[in-house]
This record gives sequence, C-alpha cells and structure tokens, in this order.
Amino acid sequence: MSQELFVYNSLTKRKEKFEPLSPNHVGMYVCGPTVYSNVHLGNCRTFISFDIIYRYLQYLGYKVRYVRNITDAGHLENDEDAGEDRIAKKARLESIEPMEVVQRYTVDFHRTLQQLNTLPPSIEPTATGHIVEQIELIKAILKEGYAYEVNGSVYFDVLKFNKDHRYGKLSGRNIEDLIHNTRTLDGQQDKKNPQDFALWKKAEPQHIMRWPSPWSDGFPGWHLECTAMSTKYLGPQFDIHGGGMDLKFPHHECEIAQAESVHKEAPVKYWLHANMLTLNGKKMAKSTGNNILPHEIFSGENTLFSKSFSPDVVRFFILQAHYRSILDISETALLAAEKGYSRMVEAVASLDHLITSDRCDFEYDIWLEKCHQAMNDDFNTPILIAQLFDAVKFIFTVKNGAAKINQETLDKLKNQLPLFIHNVLGLHLNTDSTSQQTDTLEKSVALLITLRDKARANKDFETSDLIRDALNAMNIQLFDGKEGTTFKVN
Ligand code: AMP
Ligand code: ZN
Repeated sequence: MSQELFVYNSLTKRKEKFEPLSPNHVGMYVCGPTVYSNVHLGNCRTFISFDIIYRYLQYLGYKVRYVRNITDAGHLENDEDAGEDRIAKKARLESIEPMEVVQRYTVDFHRTLQQLNTLPPSIEPTATGHIVEQIELIKAILKEGYAYEVNGSVYFDVLKFNKDHRYGKLSGRNIEDLIHNTRTLDGQQDKKNPQDFALWKKAEPQHIMRWPSPWSDGFPGWHLECTAMSTKYLGPQFDIHGGGMDLKFPHHECEIAQAESVHKEAPVKYWLHANMLTLNGKKMAKSTGNNILPHEIFSGENTLFSKSFSPDVVRFFILQAHYRSILDISETALLAAEKGYSRMVEAVASLDHLITSDRCDFEYDIWLEKCHQAMNDDFNTPILIAQLFDAVKFIFTVKNGAAKINQETLDKLKNQLPLFIHNVLGLHLNTDSTSQQTDTLEKSVALLITLRDKARANKDFETSDLIRDALNAMNIQLFDGKEGTTFKVN
C-alpha cells in the first residue's frame, strides 16, 4: 500500500504521520477499567475504539505490543485524592473481600469485551501486581526532587515540576488557572498546594487495601500505576497512549509529569483519545446512573429499547461514528445499524452465487485505495463503512442482473471484504452461526409447543398458559390454527 497512516495526536492537536519509534514495532498503552462495577456500553465504546486501532495496525503489518491495565487499587472516589477507594467501598458495602469485587468485575469485563469481539491485549497488568514497581517509581521521583513526604504520604510537587517542565500541556490548562481553581478538600491539609497529587497515601486504620512501603503502610495513587506499568512493559518512551477523553485531565497529565520527572523526556509520541458515548444526550457514566449495560441490550432486558440487539449490531453501530466524535445511542440508530449490518453480511454471502462475465462494472483498485484512505486518515471507520456499502450496492446490482462482474474482481472482493469486515472492523460474517442459532431456536420452540399441546390435552391449562406467557415475554408469539400451532419471533 502506497499510502501513509496519519493519526490525530491530542498533544499537538493535529494529524501527524505515524512513524513508530522502532520500525515495524508499535508499543501501545490503553488505560483499562477500574473493576468495581459492571462495564457500561460507554466504557466498551472506548475499548472498541482502541481495538480497531490495534487491529488496523496489525493489518498494516506492524508487530504491536498492546498493554491495557486493570485498576484494582488506588482509584479513589473523586479525582482530587479524596474519598474512599472505589473497590474497598464496594467490598465494605457488600461485605466481601476487595479481591472478590475485583474478580467479579474483571470476569464481567472480559466476558463483555469478548462478546463484542474485541481482541485481548498482549499484556494485561494489574495495579496490585505492580506495587513494587510503583514504590520504586516514587523513590525515583523523590530522588529527582519532584515529590515530598508528609505524615507517611507522598505527593507530587506540581509547582516544582512546572518550573522545569510544563504541567498541563496535554489538557491545555495553565498552572495559574489550576492554582485558582483547585479547592483544598477535607483531609488534604498535608499537601503543600491543592493541585499536588498523591503518589502514596498512608492508609487509615480501617482501610483494608494496604501494602508496606518506606513511608507507611498504605496504597499507591491512581495515576502512578499507568506510568509504572507502561514503563515496565513498553519502556520510558513508547508510541501510542490511549484512553477516553475524560482521562486527559488529571490522569494523563499526571502520567506525563511522573514519567518526565524521572526520564527527562516525553513518555508518549502519540496521545489518542476516544470520545464519549451518550444516552439521551448526556455522557454515559456509572456515577449518574445514565448508562446501559451491554448484556441488557443483548438480552433485551431493559426499559430503553423495545427489542434486543446482537453484539455485532451494537459494535457496527459504534463503528458508524468516528472514534473522536460524540455518539448518542438510540433505538432508531440501533435499528438502522441492524438493517445495515445484515445487508452487508448478505452481500458477502451472495458473492458465492454471483455469475461472472467478461465485463466488469466495478473499479476495484480505486475502491480499495479509498478504503485504505479512510482508515489511514485517523482510523475513519464511518468512511470505510460507506466504501464497503458501495461494494455491497454493486454486489446486489450484479445479483439483480443490472451490472456485470468478472472473475478476477469477484475473487478480489471475496478475499478483501472479509479482511475489512472481519479482521479490521471485528464483525462476524459467519452466517452459519446465525442460521445455526435460528435452527436451535426453532427446534426449542417446537419442543415447547409439543409440551404445551400435551398439557392442553391433559387439561393442565396452568402449564399450557405458563408456556405461552413465558414465550410471549421473550417476544415469541404463538398462533393456534387448524393445522396446529405456529410461532413468530417479534
Ligand atoms: P473507568 O473504569 O471509569 O476508568 O473507565 C474506563 C474507560 O472508559 C476510560 O477510558 C474512560 O475514559 C472510558 N469511558 C467512561 N465513560 C465513557 C463514555 N460514556 N463513553 C466512552 N468512554 C467512556
Ligand atoms: Zn491510566
């Protein structure tokens, strides 16, 4: 492919030619979830965005090391180092061990992302598994003079750092505004300045998640883990750092400060940020309750939508927007995605039955170039999908006899369409599994109809009504006719 890849760098606020630090290899770090509750679809959108980036880089032939952490300690209730640890709080409320909370929601996270067909990262390190590295990093920052210890806690000295470097360059904040706008919260009197952030916090006697350190029995600050783990697995400088836009400040700003204070160089070449998924126009978030869980959409058990949508349809819906645009979820948008996705799958399946001729009305090379152009322009999936639909339209026109395709183009499309749809966009094309599922459903409902007939013959109307009502609740409607009972899935 002759074209070059351009990515939008949040640090420079422009699209830049992608040139990895070491040829053919890419190091990519993405902030993972804090595992104290089920991931909502908003979280999943961000992970799908980086899954596309991971997949496309591999499609281009790069060898990618993709590190995505699990935050299982240190993330307090608010961003100003105050409140309880989110995991410890959940454990206290449910009277279970913090690691039970972590296990439950890590399993949920993995299962959900697998349903949405995202690839697992190359390394998935946890904060609790890297306490030693975090303590070493604090020692190094202290040695450089950019941190101070007070009463067993260690804080990063933002003003001192800002004298030698620049704090706020990623989020565009300047230190004067930060000084005026940061409040001192209760219990934060230890900090020299309110904009300083915790590297290590001394644990209160009741705090159950604690580790020994040179300063106190305590726990690491939230921002520290990402710097410690990205340095360990990708080195002091790496290519891509990603996360949702809401992590730019303070989390990523603090990561930059921690790394620069020790390594004296910018840790990340390209900062990539994914935009938010909204519901009713507002950001989907755990804290406000304005969210929907993926399994509630897949099963249809929710009050927002009148029917269920498959993981592939949800993924396709997400990819119809560029990762840097805000996307609002609605039933209308999901229904449109469902229609589009099944049309695309149908088109690919019908490639096997197209009749070829000597003539060809499709300019394959130009089309392929446009597809690559879309993805090379900062991973523009909606434009790629629009190009794919040009091919879909053409395939149906050939099917209807209104256009011609030759064998060579047919072979190329048969090869390339799955590469884009399956490998790059991560959507299933396996119509076999869909028809297998339909087959299983039909057989299961037929069995229930037989059992209902038996119950009715025995005048056991309680059972027969139970079967009909239960099927109704699953949107499966029964019709009793002269020839027997038939059914319809609504
Ligand atoms: P958390 O577990 O809260 O740290 O979030 C995990 C990831 O989900 C982070 O990268 C967040 O930026 C991202 N995220 C949170 N809410 C949304 C949303 N509504 N849309 C897209 N990404 C989100
Ligand atoms: Zn992080």
